[in-house]
Amino acid sequence: MRSFINNYVHAFLDVFYPRICLHCRGNINYSREQYICGACRENIAFINENYCSRCGSISGPYSVSFDEKGCGFCRTQHFYHDSLTAIAHYDGAIKVLVHKYKYEKQRFLYKAVNDVLLANRKLNERIQEVDIIIPVPLYWRKKLQRGFNQSELIAREIHRVFSKPLSVNNLIRIKNTASQTRLSKTKRYANIQKAFFVKNPAIIKGKRVLLVDDVLTTGLTMQECAKKLKEGGVKSVHLLVLAIADYKS
Ligand SMILES: [Zn+2]
Ligand SMILES: [Zn+2]
Repeated sequence: MRSFINNYVHAFLDVFYPRICLHCRGNINYSREQYICGACRENIAFINENYCSRCGSISGPYSVSFDEKGCGFCRTQHFYHDSLTAIAHYDGAIKVLVHKYKYEKQRFLYKAVNDVLLANRKLNERIQEVDIIIPVPLYWRKKLQRGFNQSELIAREIHRVFSKPLSVNNLIRIKNTASQTRLSKTKRYANIQKAFFVKNPAIIKGKRVLLVDDVLTTGLTMQECAKKLKEGGVKSVHLLVLAIADYKS
């Protein structure tokens, strides 16, 4: 009976208040979809191909094979993190969703972002190997202006669904850094240096950390966080990002 009424209500709403897909502007069906239509959802560019679990590079026709030491691109590089799990490319419906969520302050969209994330097999596997979830922090003034920290909302949902401990005010951002993408490579390094601080290392000592962010672009922010966490005594740092953006340095 209830589902009958639900269907009826949805049919009524679809007629009088047609919802529009945030990506293609096509109509979406209330009863089955939220914010993104079925076709756009199917077209999300998930990172399902063979990818490097250390740096996130996709194996191309010329790249060498991957193992736990990394791929041809990252093998010789030093990282502070131990692994990287990325769900999708920052493109199409994911890009629209994250953009509206983050920059147009449409906080409610975090649910749609999380739906994409939580349904992913890779997160289900990675979460078994960590002890504590930590979001990449925002500078307090930025959080106040936006009204929320997008990475924290994602981390909170993972914490709720998988019942893993969450730590939100221990790794903090003590410097209001300008957007990394607009700076030269040298300036980016200088910019992010000393931007983070661990207040109470005892909470994270010896733990395996899942460090969560929404979009990975230069990777410097997460590297700096991972560095501070390692200095604070954590056992390992596993990065989880919803999307990887193409970045040309
Ligand atoms: Zn669509
Ligand atoms: Zn790699």
